[in-house]
Amino acid sequence: MKIILLGPPGAGKGTQAKLISHKYSIPHISTGDIFRKNISEQTPLGIKAKSYMDKGQLVPDELTNEIVFDRLQNDDCKNGFLLDGFPRTVFQAEELDRFLQGEDTKINKALLIEVPQEFILDRMTGRRMCKDCGASYHVKFNSPKVEGVCDLCGGELTQRKDDKEETVKERLEVYSNQTAPLVEYYATQGNLAKVDGTLEIEEVFQNLCDILGSDI
Ligand code: ADP
Ligand code: AMP
Repeated sequence: MKIILLGPPGAGKGTQAKLISHKYSIPHISTGDIFRKNISEQTPLGIKAKSYMDKGQLVPDELTNEIVFDRLQNDDCKNGFLLDGFPRTVFQAEELDRFLQGEDTKINKALLIEVPQEFILDRMTGRRMCKDCGASYHVKFNSPKVEGVCDLCGGELTQRKDDKEETVKERLEVYSNQTAPLVEYYATQGNLAKVDGTLEIEEVFQNLCDILGSDI
């Protein structure tokens, strides 16, 4: 099963992606995590990406598409994958379709996690993320067992630089102008399914599993 997770920043894509990837044994591919790893390693890609990410803007399509298509050629993606944070523009979605067509395959489901704007700021300013594995926590809604330490890998939890109020507002703007049109794109393809992302994390997960069913 080849799956895309859609939704505004802070919708819970990363949180649900970790759960889905674990349950169904498919790789979780997060472009945000890939960029953050490159930033921490100060690679040329990381240095370029950082200047856009710090402002809440999208990294240019040419850079982003290349890293995703490289990653999708790994053997672990043969039986399925879960894309989180990609595509984010119609051009990225079209290029992804072209790439997959070349591999004689296609996206099976685009799962939209719907969360109204008024929830987002609280979620993102309270978010803490594992430096090592990218797992997402929240100071109020999803706190780790030990403060500041990742339950999954023991890594250090930090606040993302782009989770401050001003940058969050820019990211929401970017989402509605550049990424929201993808909802229509996947609806037209007949692949879109929606869940209510304001529910508890476990309920959202259950609803996503109900949609994915046993096809996966
Ligand atoms: P995204 O990957 O879509 O940007 P995250 O998965 O990182 O979003 O979630 C954003 C923040 O909201 C995190 O702090 C996370 O712990 C919290 N969160 C995720 N899902 C829920 C939920 N259903 N209810 C409350 N908080 C949530
Ligand atoms: P995320 O971790 O998904 O919230 O992404 C963090 C930041 O990484 C975004 O605000 C963008 O700057 C950048 N980014 C992640 N995915 C993409 C993408 N598909 N296209 C362009 N920029 C991206």
